[in-house]
Amino acid sequence: MHFSVGALIEKDGKYLLIDRMNPPFGFAGIGGHVDEGEEDTIKALKREVKEESGLTATKCTLVCEEEIPGNFCKRGINTHYWYLYKCETTGEVVQNTKETKSIGWYSPAEMKKLELEPVWDYWFKKLEII
Ligand SMILES: [Zn+2]
Repeated sequence: MHFSVGALIEKDGKYLLIDRMNPPFGFAGIGGHVDEGEEDTIKALKREVKEESGLTATKCTLVCEEEIPGNFCKRGINTHYWYLYKCETTGEVVQNTKETKSIGWYSPAEMKKLELEPVWDYWFKKLEII
């Protein structure tokens, strides 16, 4: 099993989503693996937020943690244990053109019309955001 971190980044009622260039495809929050040997999930989270959005995550609050079966990654693992955080950020959004087709802020009404990556569709519904 792999360990993953996800970042819920919200501003003025809109959420920061990326359109993933790599599978699993779809619109997603910022997220990624906790690298092996990297035990600090906050450190992994801040690294992913910086890499994928250009933002600096400041205050990070754990929202939930959960094992998600059927959540695959390109390294061939089918189950990930996720730590989902709500993050406050500073800085400006910069698209990572290697990992994302686009990045932007979306309202819940707009998110309902998007093809969300399954795990993020699950989180946003579970948290009653959409
Ligand atoms: Zn993985």
